Amino acid sequence: MTEFPTSRDLAALGGSGGLAFPAVQAGWRSGKLLGMSSDEVLQLLVDTGALLEGHFELRSGLHSDRFFQCANVLRYPRAAEQLCAAAVAKARAAGAPGRIDAVISPALGGIIVGHEVARALEVPSIFAEKDNGALVLRRFSIEPGQRLVVAEDVVTRGGRVQETIDLVTGSGAEVAAVILLVDRSGGKARFDVPAFSLLQLEPVTWAPADCPLCRQGIPLVHPGS
Ligand SMILES: [Zn+2]
Repeated sequence: MTEFPTSRDLAALGGSGGLAFPAVQAGWRSGKLLGMSSDEVLQLLVDTGALLEGHFELRSGLHSDRFFQCANVLRYPRAAEQLCAAAVAKARAAGAPGRIDAVISPALGGIIVGHEVARALEVPSIFAEKDNGALVLRRFSIEPGQRLVVAEDVVTRGGRVQETIDLVTGSGAEVAAVILLVDRSGGKARFDVPAFSLLQLEPVTWAPADCPLCRQGIPLVHPGS
């Protein structure tokens, strides 16, 4: 389901100069990458193909009228930059995260968001990666006493974020805040530190037998994820 845009699509997206997305353009024109409304964020996700509407079979086997693939918006660096700056602005508006030393994200999905959140906070970005099934620091180190932000693109149950938090605290450092682009846990993902998400996106799902879209005979799509 993740389709690469054609060269014509890319031209329409302003690949050779301008920025195609109105919300991004507005942010750059105003000279600040802050303050995106939920509607602006949603529109950007639709415009970039990150949020699809239709009739989908999810990996869980449930059916839904929406499918979300965060990588589709993050493939546009200016959009990624603006979304992450807006998420950081939301955290700052609440007085978080204070002085921090670095941003850490879980590979692979969190790396781009971690990088852009770190850009907005003007600190280094590091990442943890899987080794024999557990998240570890293979290329970086955390010093006791440091304060870090944990960044992630999408949280469904929160397991990877919690594992990253545990890695930081296990190193004797502190997690000042969690910054997310999209929380689709329906409020179920909770952490012991302040957490900020740019958008809450709760998918509506049905068991196949109860699916109204099946009843309407709408063809089912199996999106790759
Ligand atoms: Zn269905």
